[in-house]
Amino acid sequence: MEQEVRVRFAPSPTGPLHIGGVRTALYNYLFARKTGGKMILRIEDTDQTRFVPGAEQYIQDALKWAGIELDESPWTGGPYGPYRQSERKPDYMQYAIRLVEEGKAYYAFDTPEELDAMRERLKAARVATPQYNAITRMQMKNSLTLPEDEVKARLESGEPYVIRIKIPRKEEIRLNDMIRGWVMVHSSTLDDKVLMKSDGMPTYHLANIVDDHLMKITHVIRGEEWLPSAPLHVLLYQYFGWEDSMPRFAHLPLLLKPDGNGKLSKRDAEKHGFPIFPLEWVDPVSNEKVAGFREDGYLPDAFVNFLAFLGWSPGTNEELFTLNELIQAFSIERIGKSGTKFDIDKAKWFNQQYLRQKPDEELGKMLLEQLKQNGIDADMEKATKVAVEVKERAVFPADLWQEGALFFVRPATYDEKVAEKKWNEEAATIIGQFKDSLQEVETLDAETAKNTLNEVLERNNVKIGRVMQALRLALTGVGSGPDLMNIIEIIGKDETVARLEQALQQLQVK
Ligand code: GLU
Repeated sequence: MEQEVRVRFAPSPTGPLHIGGVRTALYNYLFARKTGGKMILRIEDTDQTRFVPGAEQYIQDALKWAGIELDESPWTGGPYGPYRQSERKPDYMQYAIRLVEEGKAYYAFDTPEELDAMRERLKAARVATPQYNAITRMQMKNSLTLPEDEVKARLESGEPYVIRIKIPRKEEIRLNDMIRGWVMVHSSTLDDKVLMKSDGMPTYHLANIVDDHLMKITHVIRGEEWLPSAPLHVLLYQYFGWEDSMPRFAHLPLLLKPDGNGKLSKRDAEKHGFPIFPLEWVDPVSNEKVAGFREDGYLPDAFVNFLAFLGWSPGTNEELFTLNELIQAFSIERIGKSGTKFDIDKAKWFNQQYLRQKPDEELGKMLLEQLKQNGIDADMEKATKVAVEVKERAVFPADLWQEGALFFVRPATYDEKVAEKKWNEEAATIIGQFKDSLQEVETLDAETAKNTLNEVLERNNVKIGRVMQALRLALTGVGSGPDLMNIIEIIGKDETVARLEQALQQLQVK
Protein backbone atom coordinates (compact mmCIF):
# COMPACT_ATOMS: atom_id res chain seq x y z
CA MET A 1 0.00 0.00 0.00
CA GLU A 2 1.20 3.52 -0.82
CA GLN A 3 2.15 5.49 2.24
CA GLU A 4 -0.25 8.33 3.06
CA VAL A 5 1.24 11.73 2.29
CA ARG A 6 1.63 13.89 5.40
CA VAL A 7 3.00 17.40 4.99
CA ARG A 8 3.36 20.17 7.49
CA PHE A 9 3.63 23.92 7.59
CA ALA A 10 5.75 24.82 10.59
CA PRO A 11 5.79 28.57 11.22
CA SER A 12 7.41 30.27 14.17
CA PRO A 13 5.16 32.87 15.82
CA THR A 14 7.79 35.62 15.69
CA GLY A 15 5.76 38.26 13.86
CA PRO A 16 3.19 38.54 11.09
CA LEU A 17 3.30 35.69 8.60
CA HIS A 18 5.06 36.95 5.48
CA ILE A 19 3.73 36.25 2.00
CA GLY A 20 6.54 33.72 1.49
CA GLY A 21 5.19 31.80 4.46
CA VAL A 22 1.69 31.80 3.03
CA ARG A 23 3.10 30.49 -0.25
CA THR A 24 4.87 27.66 1.63
CA ALA A 25 1.60 26.83 3.38
CA LEU A 26 -0.27 26.93 0.08
CA TYR A 27 2.14 24.58 -1.73
CA ASN A 28 1.96 22.14 1.18
CA TYR A 29 -1.81 22.34 1.09
CA LEU A 30 -2.05 21.86 -2.68
CA PHE A 31 0.27 18.87 -2.49
CA ALA A 32 -1.69 17.33 0.39
CA ARG A 33 -5.03 17.75 -1.36
CA LYS A 34 -3.68 16.60 -4.70
CA THR A 35 -2.34 13.38 -3.21
CA GLY A 36 -5.24 12.77 -0.85
CA GLY A 37 -2.87 13.26 2.09
CA LYS A 38 -2.96 15.30 5.29
CA MET A 39 -2.08 18.94 5.86
CA ILE A 40 -0.61 19.58 9.28
CA LEU A 41 0.32 22.82 10.99
CA ARG A 42 2.85 22.84 13.78
CA ILE A 43 3.76 25.96 15.72
CA GLU A 44 7.53 26.11 16.25
CA ASP A 45 7.83 28.24 19.34
CA THR A 46 10.95 26.90 21.02
CA ASP A 47 12.72 30.24 20.79
CA GLN A 48 10.97 32.02 23.59
CA THR A 49 13.03 35.17 23.19
CA ARG A 50 11.45 35.74 19.79
CA PHE A 51 7.86 35.05 20.78
CA VAL A 52 5.45 37.78 19.65
CA PRO A 53 1.94 37.91 21.12
CA GLY A 54 -0.76 37.77 18.48
CA ALA A 55 1.47 36.13 15.87
CA GLU A 56 -0.12 32.71 16.26
CA GLN A 57 -3.61 34.15 15.90
CA TYR A 58 -2.40 36.01 12.83
CA ILE A 59 -1.18 32.75 11.25
CA GLN A 60 -4.55 31.16 11.90
CA ASP A 61 -6.49 34.12 10.50
CA ALA A 62 -4.29 34.48 7.44
CA LEU A 63 -4.58 30.82 6.43
CA LYS A 64 -8.30 30.88 7.00
CA TRP A 65 -8.66 33.97 4.82
CA ALA A 66 -6.67 32.30 2.04
CA GLY A 67 -8.84 29.17 2.28
CA ILE A 68 -5.98 26.89 3.34
CA GLU A 69 -7.58 24.20 5.47
CA LEU A 70 -5.73 22.23 8.11
CA ASP A 71 -6.35 18.59 8.93
CA GLU A 72 -4.26 18.69 12.10
CA SER A 73 -3.13 21.77 14.05
CA PRO A 74 -3.10 23.30 17.53
CA TRP A 75 -6.57 24.65 16.75
CA THR A 76 -8.17 21.60 15.20
CA GLY A 77 -6.30 18.98 17.21
CA GLY A 78 -5.34 15.62 15.72
CA PRO A 79 -3.82 12.25 16.56
CA TYR A 80 -0.19 13.43 16.75
CA GLY A 81 -0.55 16.39 19.11
CA PRO A 82 0.26 18.57 20.79
CA TYR A 83 0.98 20.71 17.75
CA ARG A 84 2.80 23.47 19.62
CA GLN A 85 6.44 22.67 20.32
CA SER A 86 6.40 24.50 23.64
CA GLU A 87 3.81 21.93 24.76
CA ARG A 88 6.06 19.07 23.67
CA LYS A 89 9.01 20.36 25.69
CA PRO A 90 9.32 17.37 28.07
CA ASP A 91 9.78 14.98 25.14
CA TYR A 92 12.87 16.40 23.48
CA MET A 93 15.52 15.89 26.14
CA GLN A 94 15.42 12.09 25.94
CA TYR A 95 16.30 12.23 22.24
CA ALA A 96 19.28 14.48 22.88
CA ILE A 97 20.47 12.29 25.72
CA ARG A 98 20.15 9.25 23.54
CA LEU A 99 22.56 10.83 21.07
CA VAL A 100 24.97 11.71 23.90
CA GLU A 101 24.91 8.13 25.12
CA GLU A 102 25.61 6.85 21.63
CA GLY A 103 28.53 9.26 21.22
CA LYS A 104 26.76 11.36 18.59
CA ALA A 105 26.30 14.43 20.74
CA TYR A 106 27.93 15.87 23.85
CA TYR A 107 27.44 18.23 26.79
CA ALA A 108 29.14 21.61 26.50
CA PHE A 109 29.72 23.95 29.43
CA ASP A 110 31.40 26.90 27.70
CA THR A 111 30.32 30.30 28.92
CA PRO A 112 29.42 33.05 26.43
CA GLU A 113 32.78 34.70 27.22
CA GLU A 114 34.66 31.51 26.47
CA LEU A 115 32.82 31.14 23.18
CA ASP A 116 33.68 34.74 22.25
CA ALA A 117 37.32 34.17 23.17
CA MET A 118 37.40 31.09 20.94
CA ARG A 119 36.03 33.06 17.98
CA GLU A 120 38.54 35.85 18.55
CA ARG A 121 41.39 33.36 18.70
CA LEU A 122 40.32 31.78 15.43
CA LYS A 123 39.85 35.12 13.75
CA ALA A 124 43.34 36.16 14.80
CA ALA A 125 44.58 32.92 13.25
CA ARG A 126 42.77 33.96 10.05
CA VAL A 127 40.20 31.21 10.10
CA ALA A 128 37.49 32.32 7.67
CA THR A 129 34.47 30.98 9.53
CA PRO A 130 35.33 30.53 13.18
CA GLN A 131 33.03 27.92 14.62
CA TYR A 132 32.57 25.18 17.19
CA ASN A 133 33.38 22.13 15.10
CA ALA A 134 35.22 18.85 14.78
CA ILE A 135 38.58 20.61 15.26
CA THR A 136 37.85 23.36 17.75
CA ARG A 137 35.63 21.29 20.04
CA MET A 138 38.74 19.60 21.46
CA GLN A 139 39.95 22.91 22.93
CA MET A 140 36.64 23.69 24.60
CA LYS A 141 34.92 22.75 27.86
CA ASN A 142 32.73 19.79 27.06
CA SER A 143 32.13 16.15 27.82
CA LEU A 144 34.61 15.16 25.12
CA THR A 145 37.48 17.03 26.78
CA LEU A 146 36.64 16.98 30.50
CA PRO A 147 37.06 13.89 32.69
CA GLU A 148 33.89 11.88 33.13
CA ASP A 149 33.52 12.57 36.86
CA GLU A 150 33.89 16.30 36.32
CA VAL A 151 31.16 16.22 33.70
CA LYS A 152 28.94 14.36 36.11
CA ALA A 153 29.67 16.81 38.91
CA ARG A 154 28.95 19.80 36.70
CA LEU A 155 25.65 18.33 35.57
CA GLU A 156 24.65 17.46 39.12
CA SER A 157 25.52 20.89 40.46
CA GLY A 158 23.02 22.44 38.05
CA GLU A 159 25.65 24.28 36.03
CA PRO A 160 24.20 25.56 32.75
CA TYR A 161 25.01 23.41 29.74
CA VAL A 162 23.96 22.82 26.19
CA ILE A 163 23.97 19.64 24.15
CA ARG A 164 25.77 19.87 20.81
CA ILE A 165 25.71 17.48 17.89
CA LYS A 166 29.02 15.84 17.09
CA ILE A 167 29.47 16.41 13.39
CA PRO A 168 31.72 13.82 11.72
CA ARG A 169 35.00 15.26 10.54
CA LYS A 170 35.14 13.91 7.01
CA GLU A 171 31.94 12.70 5.55
CA GLU A 172 29.91 13.56 2.53
CA ILE A 173 26.27 14.28 3.32
CA ARG A 174 23.90 13.87 0.40
CA LEU A 175 20.28 14.65 -0.06
CA ASN A 176 18.04 14.39 -3.08
CA ASP A 177 15.89 17.50 -3.12
CA MET A 178 12.70 17.16 -5.16
CA ILE A 179 13.26 20.57 -6.73
CA ARG A 180 17.04 20.88 -6.79
CA GLY A 181 18.15 17.31 -7.31
CA TRP A 182 21.23 16.03 -5.49
CA VAL A 183 22.74 18.37 -2.95
CA MET A 184 26.13 17.34 -1.58
CA VAL A 185 27.77 18.92 1.44
CA HIS A 186 31.02 18.00 3.14
CA SER A 187 30.68 17.63 6.89
CA SER A 188 33.82 19.70 7.48
CA THR A 189 31.77 22.78 6.51
CA LEU A 190 29.21 22.16 9.26
CA ASP A 191 29.47 23.19 12.88
CA ASP A 192 28.46 21.38 16.05
CA LYS A 193 25.04 22.96 16.31
CA VAL A 194 23.35 23.21 19.67
CA LEU A 195 20.49 20.72 19.99
CA MET A 196 19.38 21.49 23.55
CA LYS A 197 19.70 24.98 24.95
CA SER A 198 20.62 25.90 28.50
CA ASP A 199 16.98 26.81 29.21
CA GLY A 200 16.01 23.18 28.66
CA MET A 201 14.37 23.95 25.33
CA PRO A 202 15.41 22.19 22.15
CA THR A 203 16.68 24.25 19.24
CA TYR A 204 14.73 24.41 16.01
CA HIS A 205 16.90 21.68 14.47
CA LEU A 206 16.29 19.02 17.09
CA ALA A 207 12.63 19.79 17.66
CA ASN A 208 11.92 19.95 13.94
CA ILE A 209 13.45 16.53 13.22
CA VAL A 210 11.97 14.79 16.25
CA ASP A 211 8.52 16.20 15.51
CA ASP A 212 8.60 15.45 11.80
CA HIS A 213 9.51 11.90 12.72
CA LEU A 214 6.88 11.50 15.44
CA MET A 215 4.23 13.13 13.27
CA LYS A 216 5.10 10.77 10.40
CA ILE A 217 5.80 13.60 7.97
CA THR A 218 6.54 12.28 4.48
CA HIS A 219 7.51 15.49 2.64
CA VAL A 220 9.14 18.65 3.91
CA ILE A 221 8.20 21.53 1.61
CA ARG A 222 9.75 24.77 2.84
CA GLY A 223 11.61 27.92 1.82
CA GLU A 224 15.08 27.89 0.31
CA GLU A 225 16.47 29.63 3.38
CA TRP A 226 16.35 26.24 5.09
CA LEU A 227 18.47 24.47 2.48
CA PRO A 228 21.74 25.15 4.37
CA SER A 229 20.23 23.39 7.41
CA ALA A 230 19.09 20.36 5.43
CA PRO A 231 22.41 18.42 5.60
CA LEU A 232 22.35 18.74 9.39
CA HIS A 233 18.79 17.44 9.35
CA VAL A 234 19.77 14.49 7.17
CA LEU A 235 22.59 13.72 9.58
CA LEU A 236 20.17 13.82 12.51
CA TYR A 237 17.92 11.29 10.75
CA GLN A 238 20.96 9.07 10.29
CA TYR A 239 22.06 9.49 13.91
CA PHE A 240 18.63 8.54 15.18
CA GLY A 241 18.47 5.58 12.80
CA TRP A 242 15.39 7.00 11.09
CA GLU A 243 16.76 7.12 7.51
CA ASP A 244 14.14 4.73 6.24
CA SER A 245 11.32 7.05 7.17
CA MET A 246 13.18 10.26 6.40
CA PRO A 247 10.84 12.70 4.62
CA ARG A 248 11.62 13.86 1.11
CA PHE A 249 12.73 17.49 0.90
CA ALA A 250 11.53 20.20 -1.48
CA HIS A 251 13.11 23.64 -1.01
CA LEU A 252 11.07 26.41 -2.64
CA PRO A 253 12.69 29.22 -4.64
CA LEU A 254 13.19 32.61 -3.00
CA LEU A 255 10.80 35.49 -3.52
CA LEU A 256 12.84 38.33 -5.01
CA LYS A 257 12.52 42.11 -5.02
CA PRO A 258 10.57 43.55 -7.98
CA ASP A 259 13.85 44.26 -9.83
CA GLY A 260 15.12 40.75 -9.14
CA ASN A 261 18.03 41.96 -7.00
CA GLY A 262 17.91 40.07 -3.73
CA LYS A 263 15.32 38.79 -1.35
CA LEU A 264 11.96 40.53 -1.04
CA SER A 265 11.83 42.46 2.22
CA LYS A 266 9.43 44.46 4.31
CA ARG A 267 11.42 47.54 3.38
CA ASP A 268 10.77 46.96 -0.36
CA ALA A 269 7.08 46.75 0.36
CA GLU A 270 7.16 50.04 2.27
CA LYS A 271 9.28 51.73 -0.38
CA HIS A 272 7.01 50.75 -3.27
CA GLY A 273 3.79 50.97 -1.27
CA PHE A 274 2.55 47.42 -1.78
CA PRO A 275 1.63 44.81 0.82
CA ILE A 276 3.70 41.68 1.45
CA PHE A 277 1.66 40.48 4.40
CA PRO A 278 -1.67 38.73 3.90
CA LEU A 279 -3.48 40.74 6.58
CA GLU A 280 -2.87 44.05 8.24
CA TRP A 281 -0.64 43.75 11.30
CA VAL A 282 -0.25 46.12 14.18
CA ASP A 283 2.96 45.52 16.08
CA PRO A 284 2.02 44.90 19.73
CA VAL A 285 5.03 46.82 21.03
CA SER A 286 5.66 49.69 18.63
CA ASN A 287 2.05 49.97 17.41
CA GLU A 288 3.52 50.23 13.94
CA LYS A 289 1.03 49.17 11.30
CA VAL A 290 1.88 47.19 8.19
CA ALA A 291 -0.46 46.86 5.24
CA GLY A 292 -2.19 43.63 4.32
CA PHE A 293 -3.48 42.27 1.02
CA ARG A 294 -6.92 41.79 2.57
CA GLU A 295 -7.27 45.37 3.76
CA ASP A 296 -5.92 46.69 0.46
CA GLY A 297 -8.87 45.10 -1.29
CA TYR A 298 -7.42 41.88 -2.67
CA LEU A 299 -9.87 39.02 -2.95
CA PRO A 300 -8.69 35.79 -1.33
CA ASP A 301 -9.10 33.70 -4.49
CA ALA A 302 -7.12 36.22 -6.55
CA PHE A 303 -4.43 36.36 -3.86
CA VAL A 304 -4.13 32.58 -3.80
CA ASN A 305 -3.97 32.37 -7.60
CA PHE A 306 -1.24 35.03 -7.65
CA LEU A 307 0.66 33.26 -4.88
CA ALA A 308 0.53 29.87 -6.59
CA PHE A 309 2.29 31.37 -9.60
CA LEU A 310 5.13 32.77 -7.52
CA GLY A 311 7.40 29.82 -8.17
CA TRP A 312 5.10 27.29 -9.83
CA SER A 313 3.52 27.20 -13.26
CA PRO A 314 1.12 24.76 -14.88
CA GLY A 315 3.21 24.60 -18.07
CA THR A 316 0.45 26.14 -20.20
CA ASN A 317 -0.58 29.72 -20.91
CA GLU A 318 -3.55 29.45 -18.63
CA GLU A 319 -3.36 31.69 -15.60
CA LEU A 320 -6.73 31.74 -13.90
CA PHE A 321 -7.08 28.83 -11.49
CA THR A 322 -9.47 28.50 -8.61
CA LEU A 323 -8.16 26.76 -5.53
CA ASN A 324 -9.71 23.49 -6.72
CA GLU A 325 -8.18 23.87 -10.15
CA LEU A 326 -4.82 24.58 -8.56
CA ILE A 327 -5.13 21.36 -6.59
CA GLN A 328 -5.78 19.44 -9.79
CA ALA A 329 -2.93 21.08 -11.70
CA PHE A 330 -0.29 21.21 -8.95
CA SER A 331 2.89 19.18 -8.94
CA ILE A 332 6.21 19.67 -7.16
CA GLU A 333 8.03 18.90 -10.43
CA ARG A 334 6.67 22.11 -11.90
CA ILE A 335 8.14 24.32 -9.17
CA GLY A 336 11.09 26.33 -10.50
CA LYS A 337 14.59 26.38 -9.03
CA SER A 338 15.36 30.04 -9.50
CA GLY A 339 13.95 32.91 -7.48
CA THR A 340 10.70 34.57 -8.53
CA LYS A 341 10.33 38.32 -8.89
CA PHE A 342 7.50 39.82 -6.89
CA ASP A 343 5.32 41.79 -9.29
CA ILE A 344 2.46 43.66 -7.63
CA ASP A 345 0.96 44.57 -11.01
CA LYS A 346 0.39 40.89 -11.59
CA ALA A 347 -1.44 40.68 -8.27
CA LYS A 348 -3.63 43.59 -9.35
CA TRP A 349 -4.30 41.91 -12.68
CA PHE A 350 -5.47 38.74 -10.93
CA ASN A 351 -7.66 40.79 -8.64
CA GLN A 352 -9.26 42.55 -11.57
CA GLN A 353 -10.02 39.25 -13.28
CA TYR A 354 -11.58 37.78 -10.17
CA LEU A 355 -13.58 40.89 -9.41
CA ARG A 356 -15.09 40.86 -12.90
CA GLN A 357 -16.09 37.25 -12.57
CA LYS A 358 -17.96 37.72 -9.31
CA PRO A 359 -21.72 37.13 -9.47
CA ASP A 360 -23.70 40.37 -9.82
CA GLU A 361 -25.19 39.99 -6.35
CA GLU A 362 -21.77 39.80 -4.75
CA LEU A 363 -20.57 42.89 -6.60
CA GLY A 364 -23.70 44.67 -5.42
CA LYS A 365 -22.95 43.72 -1.84
CA MET A 366 -19.40 44.98 -2.16
CA LEU A 367 -20.58 48.31 -3.47
CA LEU A 368 -23.30 48.56 -0.83
CA GLU A 369 -20.62 48.10 1.81
CA GLN A 370 -18.52 50.87 0.24
CA LEU A 371 -21.56 53.12 0.04
CA LYS A 372 -22.28 52.57 3.70
CA GLN A 373 -18.71 53.48 4.59
CA ASN A 374 -19.17 56.70 2.63
CA GLY A 375 -22.42 57.53 4.36
CA ILE A 376 -24.71 56.79 1.42
CA ASP A 377 -27.96 54.91 1.79
CA ALA A 378 -28.83 52.81 -1.22
CA ASP A 379 -30.79 49.71 -2.06
CA MET A 380 -29.31 46.45 -3.22
CA GLU A 381 -30.98 46.64 -6.63
CA LYS A 382 -29.39 49.91 -7.61
CA ALA A 383 -26.06 48.99 -6.03
CA THR A 384 -25.99 45.79 -8.08
CA LYS A 385 -26.84 47.57 -11.32
CA VAL A 386 -24.15 50.16 -10.74
CA ALA A 387 -21.54 47.60 -9.71
CA VAL A 388 -22.16 45.59 -12.87
CA GLU A 389 -21.98 48.77 -14.95
CA VAL A 390 -18.57 49.82 -13.59
CA LYS A 391 -16.92 46.48 -12.84
CA GLU A 392 -14.75 46.56 -15.96
CA ARG A 393 -13.09 49.69 -14.62
CA ALA A 394 -12.42 48.30 -11.15
CA VAL A 395 -9.40 46.49 -9.72
CA PHE A 396 -10.51 46.59 -6.09
CA PRO A 397 -13.95 46.70 -4.45
CA ALA A 398 -13.19 50.30 -3.43
CA ASP A 399 -13.00 51.17 -7.12
CA LEU A 400 -16.64 50.18 -7.49
CA TRP A 401 -17.37 53.15 -5.29
CA GLN A 402 -14.84 55.42 -6.99
CA GLU A 403 -16.25 54.60 -10.39
CA GLY A 404 -19.85 54.28 -9.26
CA ALA A 405 -20.15 57.35 -7.03
CA LEU A 406 -21.61 59.42 -9.87
CA PHE A 407 -24.70 57.19 -9.82
CA PHE A 408 -25.42 58.21 -6.26
CA VAL A 409 -24.11 61.74 -5.97
CA ARG A 410 -25.19 64.70 -8.09
CA PRO A 411 -22.23 66.60 -9.54
CA ALA A 412 -21.06 69.37 -7.23
CA THR A 413 -18.73 70.86 -9.83
CA TYR A 414 -18.21 70.60 -13.58
CA ASP A 415 -14.90 69.91 -15.26
CA GLU A 416 -13.89 73.33 -16.56
CA LYS A 417 -11.83 72.12 -19.47
CA VAL A 418 -14.70 70.05 -20.82
CA ALA A 419 -17.14 72.89 -20.21
CA GLU A 420 -14.91 75.31 -22.06
CA LYS A 421 -14.70 73.08 -25.12
CA LYS A 422 -18.11 71.46 -25.28
CA TRP A 423 -20.71 73.56 -23.51
CA ASN A 424 -22.21 75.96 -26.07
CA GLU A 425 -25.48 77.38 -27.27
CA GLU A 426 -26.24 74.37 -29.41
CA ALA A 427 -25.54 71.88 -26.60
CA ALA A 428 -27.62 73.86 -24.10
CA THR A 429 -30.56 73.97 -26.51
CA ILE A 430 -30.46 70.25 -27.24
CA ILE A 431 -30.05 69.36 -23.58
CA GLY A 432 -32.92 71.68 -22.63
CA GLN A 433 -35.24 70.04 -25.14
CA PHE A 434 -34.03 66.58 -24.19
CA LYS A 435 -34.91 67.32 -20.57
CA ASP A 436 -38.40 68.47 -21.53
CA SER A 437 -39.02 65.40 -23.70
CA LEU A 438 -37.81 63.07 -20.96
CA GLN A 439 -40.46 64.41 -18.63
CA GLU A 440 -43.08 63.09 -21.02
CA VAL A 441 -41.64 59.59 -21.03
CA GLU A 442 -43.41 57.05 -18.83
CA THR A 443 -40.77 54.44 -18.13
CA LEU A 444 -37.28 55.63 -18.81
CA ASP A 445 -34.79 52.97 -19.79
CA ALA A 446 -31.59 53.25 -21.81
CA GLU A 447 -33.42 52.47 -25.04
CA THR A 448 -36.09 55.16 -24.55
CA ALA A 449 -33.49 57.65 -23.46
CA LYS A 450 -31.56 56.99 -26.65
CA ASN A 451 -34.66 57.28 -28.86
CA THR A 452 -35.76 60.46 -27.14
CA LEU A 453 -32.35 62.02 -27.63
CA ASN A 454 -32.30 61.00 -31.27
CA GLU A 455 -35.68 62.61 -31.87
CA VAL A 456 -34.48 65.87 -30.39
CA LEU A 457 -31.31 65.75 -32.47
CA GLU A 458 -33.19 65.03 -35.67
CA ARG A 459 -35.66 67.80 -35.01
CA ASN A 460 -32.77 70.24 -34.69
CA ASN A 461 -30.68 68.63 -37.37
CA VAL A 462 -27.71 68.18 -35.06
CA LYS A 463 -25.28 65.25 -35.12
CA ILE A 464 -24.98 63.28 -31.88
CA GLY A 465 -21.18 63.71 -31.67
CA ARG A 466 -21.60 67.46 -31.18
CA VAL A 467 -23.47 67.22 -27.89
CA MET A 468 -22.53 63.92 -26.29
CA GLN A 469 -19.74 65.23 -24.09
CA ALA A 470 -21.79 68.19 -23.00
CA LEU A 471 -24.57 65.83 -21.99
CA ARG A 472 -22.09 63.70 -20.10
CA LEU A 473 -20.74 66.77 -18.37
CA ALA A 474 -24.25 67.81 -17.39
CA LEU A 475 -25.08 64.41 -15.95
CA THR A 476 -21.81 63.48 -14.29
CA GLY A 477 -19.68 66.61 -14.02
CA VAL A 478 -16.79 65.01 -15.93
CA GLY A 479 -15.84 64.18 -19.49
CA SER A 480 -15.63 60.39 -19.39
CA GLY A 481 -17.22 57.41 -17.67
CA PRO A 482 -19.69 54.57 -18.15
CA ASP A 483 -22.30 54.42 -20.90
CA LEU A 484 -24.49 57.52 -20.68
CA MET A 485 -27.80 55.90 -21.56
CA ASN A 486 -27.17 53.27 -18.90
CA ILE A 487 -26.43 56.02 -16.42
CA ILE A 488 -29.79 57.61 -17.26
CA GLU A 489 -31.60 54.31 -16.85
CA ILE A 490 -30.00 53.60 -13.51
CA ILE A 491 -30.36 57.03 -11.91
CA GLY A 492 -33.92 57.28 -13.24
CA LYS A 493 -36.09 59.98 -14.73
CA ASP A 494 -36.40 62.36 -11.79
CA GLU A 495 -32.72 62.41 -11.03
CA THR A 496 -31.81 62.76 -14.72
CA VAL A 497 -34.12 65.72 -15.12
CA ALA A 498 -32.90 67.30 -11.89
CA ARG A 499 -29.26 66.96 -12.98
CA LEU A 500 -29.95 68.43 -16.41
CA GLU A 501 -31.76 71.34 -14.81
CA GLN A 502 -28.91 71.98 -12.42
CA ALA A 503 -26.40 71.93 -15.29
CA LEU A 504 -28.47 74.29 -17.40
CA GLN A 505 -28.55 76.71 -14.51
CA GLN A 506 -24.93 76.45 -13.45
CA LEU A 507 -23.06 76.12 -16.73
CA GLN A 508 -22.60 79.40 -18.58
CA VAL A 509 -22.69 79.58 -22.34
CA LYS A 510 -19.73 81.61 -23.48
N1 GLU B 1 10.01 27.03 12.02
C1 GLU B 1 10.63 27.12 10.73
C2 GLU B 1 10.17 28.44 10.10
O1 GLU B 1 9.78 29.31 10.80
C3 GLU B 1 10.23 25.93 9.91
C4 GLU B 1 11.18 25.54 8.83
C5 GLU B 1 10.82 24.16 8.31
O2 GLU B 1 9.78 24.06 7.66
O3 GLU B 1 11.53 23.21 8.59
O4 GLU B 1 10.20 28.66 8.91
